[in-house]
Amino acid sequence: MSDEFGTCCATLKELISTKEFSPLIEVGDDGVLYMSVGIMDNGKEDEEGMVDYPVFYCPFCGTQLQEQDEEKT
Ligand SMILES: [Zn+2]
Repeated sequence: MSDEFGTCCATLKELISTKEFSPLIEVGDDGVLYMSVGIMDNGKEDEEGMVDYPVFYCPFCGTQLQEQDEEKT
């Protein structure tokens, strides 16, 4: 599923394929790469709301990963 991303550099590939930790960059169910930019305090102890935004350029090597128009809402 995540084959689409991570071809630009080893860092991103490692991040989205690792099982060793929970990366803050993930491929969403809609196939869009998202990066968590913060944690929302929603008042529930066992539920943290991550604030995600689509990533259009790889933060590590600068390669364009997806077109902004492809963002599905
Ligand atoms: Zn990259």
